[in-house]
Amino acid sequence: ATPTAVMVATGMGASHGVLIKGGDALEKAQNVQYVVFDKTGTLTQGKAAVSTAKVFAEMGLGDFLTLVASAEASSEHPLARAVLDYAHHYHFFDELPTVKGATKQIREDILSEWLLEANNFSALPGRGVQCLINGKSVLVGNRFLLAENGVIVTKEAEDFLIDLEGNAKTGVLVAYDGTFIGLLGIADPMKREAAVVIEGLKKMGIHPVMVTGDNWRTAQAVAKEIGIEDVRAEVMPAGKADVIHSLQKDGGMVAMVGDGINDSPALAAADVGMAIGAGTDIAIEAADYVLVRNSLEDVITAIDLSRKTFARIR
Ligand code: ADP
Ligand code: MG
Repeated sequence: ATPTAVMVATGMGASHGVLIKGGDALEKAQNVQYVVFDKTGTLTQGKAAVSTAKVFAEMGLGDFLTLVASAEASSEHPLARAVLDYAHHYHFFDELPTVKGATKQIREDILSEWLLEANNFSALPGRGVQCLINGKSVLVGNRFLLAENGVIVTKEAEDFLIDLEGNAKTGVLVAYDGTFIGLLGIADPMKREAAVVIEGLKKMGIHPVMVTGDNWRTAQAVAKEIGIEDVRAEVMPAGKADVIHSLQKDGGMVAMVGDGINDSPALAAADVGMAIGAGTDIAIEAADYVLVRNSLEDVITAIDLSRKTFARIR
């Protein structure tokens, strides 16, 4: 392609919200054989919301939610936001129906009135959070987090969890003072265009892959909804780049599409990194493409643009 063709393509990309970081990036996308998608925030809308909360201890739902929200208050994770919104709504829906529209500051002030003090907070990537409340250990996260800490989950709760996961929901388990006390089911709907885009990629001869830190059952259920057969689940944040490397070892050119801080090593490891949507600065920095419209369709737009600019006979 001539420099003019590259310039024209770059301009056309920009007008679709596909920002291309240079001619190299534009050229590489044509040869992509695998597109690896992060699940949360990339394939999903990133609008996680609690759909179920179930207490398995001698305590009321309100107290349970207060405890969980207090533990999650310092976490930036989308699951934590969902828990806080839900607990918040539970506490104030009747008393303060307008609070939903309140500014972030007002909401935080109100929240701080009923949240319990959490000490020694730590976020454990790919697992959850832990802290001390009332001097007792509180764990909020997945089954690995509880297992690691020797917390036993009852058969009844495990069955409930398996059911949630089969319905594409993420289970969040809660332990207080070493005892399992309850769980929440969190749903994050798929982006509407996801299934069509996956089908489109397959028609282009490209193999779609989903990678996630979420558990196998939820991941499989989500992938099935949109037609992805190749799933890599329970991948710790550092492991996403390994998934890219293993696909490259098979001789393929790999694109990675992601939005989070977690994704930046994988975006950098991929032959073509695509940061999507309101992605974090660090993801945008690591990527070759920025898909600003937050639409998965632009993955196809980007590859098409490259193929057309560097038209080869196929
Ligand atoms: P993804 O790769 O899908 O973006 P993450 O690596 O961020 O997922 O998280 C993986 C898993 O770790 C989540 O599915 C959840 O089970 C658990 N987890 C992480 N952070 C939290 C949190 N703040 N609260 C509850 N669970 C969490
Ligand atoms: Mg993500």
